[in-house]
Amino acid sequence: MAAAESTDPRRARRWEGPPKWRRVVLKLSGEALAEAGGHNVSASIVDALASEIAEVWTSLEVDIAVVVGGGNIWRGMAGSVGGMDRAQSDHMGMLATVINALALQDALERSDVPTRVMTAIGMAQIAEPYIRRRAVRHLEKGRVVIFAAGTGNPFFTTDTAAALRAAEVDADVVLKGTHSGVDGVYTADPQTDPSAQLLSEVTFLEVLSRELAVMDSAAIAVCKDNATPIVVFDLMTRGNFRSVVEGEALGTLVR
Ligand code: UDP
Repeated sequence: MAAAESTDPRRARRWEGPPKWRRVVLKLSGEALAEAGGHNVSASIVDALASEIAEVWTSLEVDIAVVVGGGNIWRGMAGSVGGMDRAQSDHMGMLATVINALALQDALERSDVPTRVMTAIGMAQIAEPYIRRRAVRHLEKGRVVIFAAGTGNPFFTTDTAAALRAAEVDADVVLKGTHSGVDGVYTADPQTDPSAQLLSEVTFLEVLSRELAVMDSAAIAVCKDNATPIVVFDLMTRGNFRSVVEGEALGTLVR
């Protein structure tokens, strides 16, 4: 009997060996989409990031979800320090992530990658609402799913959203892409302490007890409870995203 025809368009593409991770959640900070110190979206940077994602999508049979931050535009904490109501300010931050998600979707689709943006706060005119089963189906069909508006709740971060969505869609790993030149988790801040050493592997408990700069503690706790490993790596170096997905030991593995 003939095999059923796959609905995944990637079946026809080149196969280059088994990647280490089959379903990944890539966490992109908002600042990764802006020029250094900038408060906007840089079209050329978004295009470059989209081409990294497109390269993996085209050449490896991997399900890709992306959680985008919004810190390039607004952070809830900044507003609350200035006297704003924290929840109100966080809602502004979550809306900022949607702007970034739409920019990334645009760039990916210009690279011929099929995408869906799903938001944790309903805005049906511009994106789908987040529905877990539908998100999984999109991934199975080979679409890159961009999760926007974080968890939909104030007092959280998009790091926690990445950990949560990874658990929900049964991802193998959270890939935390850095953009500041720091290529993993160090024993101290490598930008101020020359004796800081890169840790190639570290446990969730060490991250929490030593307060290592990986993701916020809520995100680490969600990954720990669900045994979702995290790879922290320098996303801005060309080819790194693909290398990490394939299994090269770049950056730091947290598990
Ligand atoms: N935010 C929120 N709940 C969430 C995710 C994000 O309230 O579940 C808000 C929060 O104000 C945060 C802002 O959105 O400061 C932008 O997200 P984040 O700081 O995680 O962005 P990143 O640092 O990754 O650019």
